[in-house]
Amino acid sequence: MALGLIHRGVRVTVYERANTLPEIGAGMAFTAVAQDCMRRLSPRIIAAFERVGSPNEHPQNRYWDGFHPESKEQAQAPESLLFQMSTYDMGYWTCLRAAFLEELNGELPEGVLKFGKCLESYTDDETKTKVVLRFGDGSEAQADAVIGCDGLRSRTRQLMLGESNPASYPRYSHKVAYRAVVPITAAIAALGEDRGRNQCLQMGPKAHIMTYPLANFTLTNLAVFVTDPKPWPDPKRLTAPATRQEVVDAFADWSPPAREMIDLLPESLTKWALYDMYEDPATEYCRGRVCLAGDAAHASSPHHGAGAGMGVEDCLAIVTALETARTNLQGAKRFHPSLKFAAIKVAFEVYNAVCYERSQWQVRSARETGDIYQWAYSGSGSDPLRCKAEIEARTKKIWDFSVEEMVRQVHSQCKPPLRTEDRMRKRMIRLIDLQEVQEVLEVPVLCWRGCLGLSVSRDPPLSQLGAFELLLVDN
Ligand SMILES: Cc1cc2nc3c(=O)[nH]c(=O)nc-3n(C[C@H](O)[C@H](O)[C@H](O)COP(=O)(O)OP(=O)(O)OC[C@H]3O[C@@H](n4cnc5c(N)ncnc54)[C@H](O)[C@@H]3O)c2cc1C
Repeated sequence: MALGLIHRGVRVTVYERANTLPEIGAGMAFTAVAQDCMRRLSPRIIAAFERVGSPNEHPQNRYWDGFHPESKEQAQAPESLLFQMSTYDMGYWTCLRAAFLEELNGELPEGVLKFGKCLESYTDDETKTKVVLRFGDGSEAQADAVIGCDGLRSRTRQLMLGESNPASYPRYSHKVAYRAVVPITAAIAALGEDRGRNQCLQMGPKAHIMTYPLANFTLTNLAVFVTDPKPWPDPKRLTAPATRQEVVDAFADWSPPAREMIDLLPESLTKWALYDMYEDPATEYCRGRVCLAGDAAHASSPHHGAGAGMGVEDCLAIVTALETARTNLQGAKRFHPSLKFAAIKVAFEVYNAVCYERSQWQVRSARETGDIYQWAYSGSGSDPLRCKAEIEARTKKIWDFSVEEMVRQVHSQCKPPLRTEDRMRKRMIRLIDLQEVQEVLEVPVLCWRGCLGLSVSRDPPLSQLGAFELLLVDN
């Protein structure tokens, strides 16, 4: 987001709660759509991604039976391949999350990123020219607009939608993830050369295992997902310490290669509770000059591998809307702070209108996709043909998407703020001084606002203006 705005000459400050960049040792996949958005946001972003990312070697993404095969040979045999989908269409490239973040950080100009700034509250008073942000360290900052990219448990969301609103909080999806990055040689030893060097999803009852290569085929991302019917013990924390043994127990009946992959997990590890906004979606992504983007707006479970990708789509829509708003403002005859307020508000509303449905669908579909992988979705069970039909239709919706059309919609919906009152006839009058204002309005100037069905751009007070443009509205 920040690099996209900077690329368009917008001054940005990123306030980050943590004191350093997070070191999550895990892989990340981005579709061709997300990469298209990165390219349009800024050439620096896509260049950073291409330095650390790589495509699948195999032309198909493949989904295997991880449960029934009784030997390694059986597991690699064609009968164990449940279904496959074209890698070219999906266009997934994978990378190490920490490596990509570091590359992006390296592209930010000095001083843009401020660590140790935990947002506690904000005030968006429309009579004031700026939004005021307050942080945990007691400091304050001001901005024309605020984009809350503060993740799954977004404070911005709580402040925007209300602290007692259920939509302000994500819920436990009753699945946990165990993640590790292991040497690719070990993955190849367990899965075989072909499956070890490519994306490999092993499906089975109540669990699934996703592996793919990273870091120029030296490492493998290992993500293990298990259904957990119990409540998550501590909703304040999204992770809990775990042991390899509990994962070994969950996969005791699975095929030898699946169990061998589980054996590669470290002895003590972290268990991630997968929370999402499936039950209580945010009703909107913006209010006034504040908006939500990424997981703050639509946190989802990770089963489409598209949560961050949707966030990148948000970034492009927001950046495009703000850029269009700025162009519209530059076209306005006379600049006034209230016009800037209106333009930012419209830009965020347009982002909301264009991105809401798709990102909400992704939240719902990702939750269901987790169940499909674990043979628990009523529409497909463990039937490979039905599973394929479900996954194909859903995945197609993610990759078969026109970024160009999204950008066009944002442009076309961002109307200049003065043209919003289409129903009304408008007449511009040039007023020379206070006396003339009073003569035209036939009321004392202090009462001018709201009189005679008049809509006026105000601040500073009329009395201080030598010349002023009024928008006269006849109903
Ligand atoms: C197991 C797993 C695998 C995944 N795999 C994929 C994948 O392959 N592809 C994909 O597209 N997505 C994937 N996702 C989803 C992806 O990780 C998220 O969608 C993405 O990280 C969200 O990015 P974000 O910037 O919105 O939020 P985050 O990455 O959560 O970043 C939020 C930032 O805000 C900061 N912050 C929080 N609160 C405050 C505050 N009050 N003040 C200041 N700063 C604050 C945080 O410290 C953090 O740095 C996966 C998720 C999981 C759990």
